[in-house]
Amino acid sequence: QCIAVCPTGALTELDQVDKVWKALNDPNQFVVVQTAPAVRVALGEGFGLDPGTIVTGKMVAALRRLGFDRVFDTDFAADLTIMEEATELVHRIQHGGRLPLLTSCCPAWVKFFEHQFPDLLDIPSTCKSPHEMLGVLIKSYYARTLGIDPKTITVVSVMPCVAKKYEAARPELSQGAETADVDIVITTRELARMIREASIHFDHLKDQEFDHPLGESTGASVIFGTTGGVLEAALRTAYEVLTGETLEKVEFEVLRGMNGLKEAVVPIAGRDYRAAVVHGLGNARTILEKIQAGESDYDVIEIMACPGGCIGGGGQPYHHGNLEILSSRAEGLYREDRSKPLRKSHENPAIIGLYKDYLGEPYGELAHKLLHTSYVARKKI
Ligand code: SF4
Repeated sequence: QCIAVCPTGALTELDQVDKVWKALNDPNQFVVVQTAPAVRVALGEGFGLDPGTIVTGKMVAALRRLGFDRVFDTDFAADLTIMEEATELVHRIQHGGRLPLLTSCCPAWVKFFEHQFPDLLDIPSTCKSPHEMLGVLIKSYYARTLGIDPKTITVVSVMPCVAKKYEAARPELSQGAETADVDIVITTRELARMIREASIHFDHLKDQEFDHPLGESTGASVIFGTTGGVLEAALRTAYEVLTGETLEKVEFEVLRGMNGLKEAVVPIAGRDYRAAVVHGLGNARTILEKIQAGESDYDVIEIMACPGGCIGGGGQPYHHGNLEILSSRAEGLYREDRSKPLRKSHENPAIIGLYKDYLGEPYGELAHKLLHTSYVARKKI
């Protein structure tokens, strides 16, 4: 299964549950967990619930029962990614930077382009993926707030993804820092196993909320977990930032669904933005070859390695490519988006506070140091 969803073939499943138990049992460690958007619509399948059932509140309750000191939401950092990536796009357009900008949240896709398209390393966004952004903030901003030594913090990410385990070990993601941004990555399946090992009756748990402030998020961030969601979230913010007007209809239906290539032309402030979404590395290769040949006129492209995006990730309960399961999980994320009072990343009050109190400007100096990364040309395989 892992190889089927991680087409670079570089990934094998690495079990890290024991490392998590060890950290939780270490009285000298402050153990913080974060959960990716796609986990909340698939974890329930490990306990007999239907695909797409939203179990956010039960998941948070289970993580507290397991003993984590704080339970944060990677969705917060997805909102932050939008702030950084949208600003990067505008910066490239205004300063004649190279286009299209390619999204960079997916480490399997990043590894693929490093090996297969080393001549295009200057077009992916330099944004770290959301869980890496949250990891570095926990060890800087949040450690400072609590007044504790970052070396005593263990950050655990619960991801739908086996490639994130490799990503957390990339030296480019913790350059110059004393500790890695993220210490341990476990998958949705591994979390389900931990909950069973602790004899927690998942379906009896009462819903709980994420901790603040790094648990606050908007509807834009939760749709990161499905194909098209990153771009839709980015357009919701880019439209309002560039026009100064309110975007009344936030849904970009044309970017949704399971087609391998989805395209949109979005008029914003007198300019037509040409956007595309691809998922699956075969589709990514096709579009990159067009860029290489100078045949692409897109401004921005979202690329995810797994068919369906992270809802279909290699760390999720097995779905065997079943489109009904993937569509149910995607619909769960869209339901969660609709249920949120705020649905645009730039409206997240905790994000506004983070820039005001700590980071300064989006895409500014400190944001660059903490939230952006670089890529490496690797041998063609
Ligand atoms: Fe991981 Fe999501 Fe990329 Fe799949 S699409 S490899 S789950 S980040």
